[in-house]
Amino acid sequence: MVDQEKIRQGVRLLLQGIGEDTKREGLTETPDRIARMYGEICGGMEMDVSKILSKTFAAENAEMVLEKDIVFYSMCEHHMLPFFGKVHIAYIPDGKVVGLSKLARCVEVYAKRLQLQERMTEQIAEAVMKYLAPRGVMVLTEAEHMCMTMRGVKKPGSKTVTYAVKGVFAEEKALQENFFRMLRLD
Ligand code: ZN
Repeated sequence: MVDQEKIRQGVRLLLQGIGEDTKREGLTETPDRIARMYGEICGGMEMDVSKILSKTFAAENAEMVLEKDIVFYSMCEHHMLPFFGKVHIAYIPDGKVVGLSKLARCVEVYAKRLQLQERMTEQIAEAVMKYLAPRGVMVLTEAEHMCMTMRGVKKPGSKTVTYAVKGVFAEEKALQENFFRMLRLD
């Protein structure tokens, strides 16, 4: 559970630290606003991925299912600045499939917290593998990191790509190639 009072205190200190007047009109509500906002931004920590992915349907289909362009917003844990982009999830069912909106919800669970892109990609793949028990899963994440674009090396538009493979996707390179081919289709 997010401790809103601690966040309010912390934001006041941060404002003072950068030399701001916490009493000026534009800032009086800011600590409270940020405290409420963090409840949402880090809301994934209170979501239960097992509940989301446990509602499966029996299916004969044994071909790759690809849910692509799942938009996400997360927060880099090193700078507490946003990183955002798209997640693409493919899996090969083994008797059961999950509603497509559930994959998007699964992404939310791991995006809405302080994160590393590499870890988020891995966690999504692990969750799909664990709760859906497919023959294999592949997750690819492409994201822009504000800590790369608005500070430091300042490379706007640069993207970081990470991916994770499990099961048959890890064993068969041809499946990975098929995944990349399907990603390029519009
Ligand atoms: Zn960062």
